Amino acid sequence: AGRWSLHGRTALVTGGTRGIGRAVVEELAALGAAVHTCSRKEAELGDRLKEWEAKGFRVTGSVCDVSVRGQRELLLRDVADRFAGKLDILINNVGTNRRKPTTEYSADEYSFIMATNLESAYHLCQLAHPLLKASAVASIVFISSVSGVVAISSGSIYGMTKGAMNQLAKNLACEWAKDNIRINSVAPWYIKTSLVEEDLAKKDFVDIIARRTPMRRVGEPEEVSSLVAFLCMRGSSYITGQTISVDGGMTINGMY
Ligand code: NDP
Repeated sequence: AGRWSLHGRTALVTGGTRGIGRAVVEELAALGAAVHTCSRKEAELGDRLKEWEAKGFRVTGSVCDVSVRGQRELLLRDVADRFAGKLDILINNVGTNRRKPTTEYSADEYSFIMATNLESAYHLCQLAHPLLKASAVASIVFISSVSGVVAISSGSIYGMTKGAMNQLAKNLACEWAKDNIRINSVAPWYIKTSLVEEDLAKKDFVDIIARRTPMRRVGEPEEVSSLVAFLCMRGSSYITGQTISVDGGMTINGMY
């Protein structure tokens, strides 16, 4: 692949049927990568795969709940089979949230958010390591959040998982540089997806976001997927261990 292409590359994108994950699948595929994705809903995954086939994209998919250890192992087995033991790109995109005051979280909610957002990403990195090492030009990208960079009212557990991902990108960047694997974290602010549909339907809420954001608007999934694709290309070959916010300036806004 050239500096600005992903031609011939192979990728695993978790949670690719909606939102940011879907935009990433389409961005990588349009740039020439062969992509494998997953989600929990078989029917929706089937619909997406048909749409992508009609567009000429090379995308396959498995039904997989990445919060479950055994299902992650099966997913990586599928990926190893499909791409003959070599993977160039791993995008840890799956994430969810239950927003509450800290004193109201139950032990089950703690485990659920931790397993879905953080443990899944950690274990998928472990499982994918031999395949990524076989690539020699590999990239891992975490879809984190600005809530892992600054404190926002998204709930403390969500913020912790995202802050931990940003740190994990730094640790793995140092540990796996010798294996030619780059690891970066992308931290979006509000992006129009099904995850935040309800929030963004409230005009008051959107007004508060707009006031806090220098660019005075929320983002689109395609404004995240473009950065993700760049971080997987040779054009970003000296960038590793970084957390880059895609936030219309939200995190650099002192008081504007
Ligand atoms: P959506 O909820 O719109 O989409 C999530 C995707 O992941 C769906 O395809 C969903 O399919 C899949 N998914 C969810 N849980 C699992 C699971 N356990 N196993 C497998 N697949 C799963 O989310 P977004 O696109 O908004 O979010 C993507 C990432 O971006 C998350 O990590 C989120 O934290 C982060 N982010 C989002 C922001 C936003 O404003 N939207 C802001 C900052 C960060 P299914 O439900 O069928 O499994």
